[in-house]
Amino acid sequence: MNFQEFSLDSRILAGIKSVGYTEPTPIQEQAIPVILQGKDVLGLAQTGTGKTAAFALPILQRLSTGPMRRIRVLVVAPTRELAEQIHQAFTDFSRHMKVRSMTIYGGVGKGTQIKQLRQGVEIVVACPGRLLDLYGEGYIDLSSVEVLVLDEADRMCDMGFLPDIRHIIKLLPAQRQTLFFSATMPKDIRKLVNEILNDPVTVQIGMIAPAKTVDHAIYPITQKMKKHLLLAMLEQEATGQILIFTRTKYRARNLARDLERKKYRVAALQGNMSQNKRQAAITGFRNGKYDILVATDIAARGIDVTNITHVINFDMPDTVDAYTHRIGRTGRAERGGDAYTFAVPDDAAMVRQIERLLKSPIERKRLPDYDYGDFVPETAVNSASTPSNQRKPNKNGRPAKKRRNRNGRQRRHSPYSRTD
Ligand code: AMP
Repeated sequence: MNFQEFSLDSRILAGIKSVGYTEPTPIQEQAIPVILQGKDVLGLAQTGTGKTAAFALPILQRLSTGPMRRIRVLVVAPTRELAEQIHQAFTDFSRHMKVRSMTIYGGVGKGTQIKQLRQGVEIVVACPGRLLDLYGEGYIDLSSVEVLVLDEADRMCDMGFLPDIRHIIKLLPAQRQTLFFSATMPKDIRKLVNEILNDPVTVQIGMIAPAKTVDHAIYPITQKMKKHLLLAMLEQEATGQILIFTRTKYRARNLARDLERKKYRVAALQGNMSQNKRQAAITGFRNGKYDILVATDIAARGIDVTNITHVINFDMPDTVDAYTHRIGRTGRAERGGDAYTFAVPDDAAMVRQIERLLKSPIERKRLPDYDYGDFVPETAVNSASTPSNQRKPNKNGRPAKKRRNRNGRQRRHSPYSRTD
């Protein structure tokens, strides 16, 4: 299949060509015709599947005719980085059109955003907080919105944006097309979907699991030896662009500093940095000024760097969702990638959960020629020791009960509570 078959405006096809896409990805094949028909879409898609173009291209087709200089498309995204990435995609695809797109998010001055709004745009890509601020101050007219896109809705929910989202929806015309993208479907999200989508077509790409083009490996290690192992690994492996995840902002900053001392071209990306510094880190990583980016989960969300060859989980993520999101940063758009996870013996339960998601065991690896001392990586993080559906028996010989919180719900740790 090629892009011509969608009967898109020739200016959009020229935009696609200049970006270098030749064939649509599976989600684009499924979603573009449905969106062109004006239907609501529920897109269950992991990162790296090409979902941005899946909604951006048919939206530009709509904008190729009709009134200009009024907000006809509103895209709501959880982070500034993702908002910038979506805006960039719209700008790239529409380079032969007169369509204007802009971003709205906090952490930067309002002046430029207000000026752009005054000049008139067709596409606004916004984070919820600043959008509501500017609306409250009377700078935004949402009465002409024809299409609403909610991207990474599950992330927005995790970050506490759900009330803002509901508020924003109330400000929009009831007669509109809604495109809703989420990698997972927790209960709150399902409820929202039922409320705001009108007879949606569901587009789902495979299992909601990390991209198939990624090779996964576990490197069992002790907490103390992690940094040493990483340095040895960086020396041994011919790596390209590496994204390293740590559990906290503090650990990201310190690890980046240590690597810099060893003369690596490295930047940190964590929530304590100013928006300018964050953007400089991402841009520097994208254009090759830095080979390594050390990031926390939230700060890294929405980074779109196509050449990431390795994702290294220096610290184990707290949830399988967080694993999916981290690993989604490599192996993007059919390119291969490696995902290495440093696991200490206490991480064994999380490793099993990830293996269940991937539906296969992850290979345990030992770094060749590395002195592990008394530590035996081969047996330290065993997946076979406790089968996934079997918990350790308690004193009475019965399987132990799952821990539940006061409401009787099973405990679920947010991956974001500690990082950003
Ligand atoms: P997304 O899932 O939208 O974040 O896209 C993931 C990556 O795939 C981005 O770097 C896109 O530029 C790239 N991409 C999206 N669609 C295509 C396509 N049809 N051909 C090649 N690359 C693509």
